[in-house]
Amino acid sequence: MAWTLRRLTCVLAFASIALSATASEAPSACDHGVAWQVLGSGGPELNQRAQSGHVLWIDGKARAVFDTGAGTAVAFGKARGRIEDLDLIALSHLHTDHSADLPAYVKASFFGERRRDLPILGPPGNNVFPSLEAWLAALFTGEHAAYPYLAGFLQPEGAAYRLRPATLQLSDGDIATVFTGPNFSVRATPVKHGPIPALAWRIDVQGRSVVYLGDTDAQAPALLELAQGADLLIANLAISEHSNDSVASRLHAPPSRIASLAQRAGTRRLLLSHLMQRSEQALPESLRIIRAIYSGPVEVAQDGLCLPLPLRNNATHTKKGPA
Ligand SMILES: [Zn+2]
Repeated sequence: MAWTLRRLTCVLAFASIALSATASEAPSACDHGVAWQVLGSGGPELNQRAQSGHVLWIDGKARAVFDTGAGTAVAFGKARGRIEDLDLIALSHLHTDHSADLPAYVKASFFGERRRDLPILGPPGNNVFPSLEAWLAALFTGEHAAYPYLAGFLQPEGAAYRLRPATLQLSDGDIATVFTGPNFSVRATPVKHGPIPALAWRIDVQGRSVVYLGDTDAQAPALLELAQGADLLIANLAISEHSNDSVASRLHAPPSRIASLAQRAGTRRLLLSHLMQRSEQALPESLRIIRAIYSGPVEVAQDGLCLPLPLRNNATHTKKGPA
């Protein structure tokens, strides 16, 4: 009996330590003001990085999610994001490494207290990819839906709130305001990502601006205007400068093109994300190339990285010569 009691006491003591550790988590840089957090900094490979996903924080609340690649829904929970606080989910395109966790967010919300509708923005379809709305129907409401038990989130009745999808039909060169809410606004432009319909986003929030390229070759002419003067540019560093993979090179931007865009647009800070094995191996060379062209600060994304976005001042980085 004494042994059993001692053992029980130890178990309770351990449980108490575990609970207090959870309750006293260190405050995050995302707890105050405006901040951008990387949920997933990887690409389609399965490794130590979650796939692509980012979250906009305003005053300690997760207000918008940009891309929902595999692993990012769990990362959102670990970051203490609440689906109830979201004003928007935006998907740059429907490759799995940018979208696969969307059903996980939707199902998780069933157990929360969300009651207001949730806008979700995404690309149009073509002969190789469905539109956002066709994709959601294939997941939840179509005749052969993958998850028909979640159909209520897209139908007039049946769930506590509705997803409000909007497929963005934009012409090349267009920059359109696609979301205006009480906390931030979003503009979008179509970008080139091989044959896959894809979008880049600019988020304007309380005097700050963030441009998220998603996944692109970064050659769309409107990107220069979209990224103009942004406080933070998030680019996909998925290939090396001298990639001999012609398919990958059609889909992604080499380091020099990313740096040239950031420099010409006068963006104040550059964050490199969507890292893959091939781009990680070439990272030292890629950073040398980027820093020779772009004179602002450059950071390499890690999962969970939180970047506070202080109010801008008039300081800008030094312009280098034409790139
Ligand atoms: Zn992609």
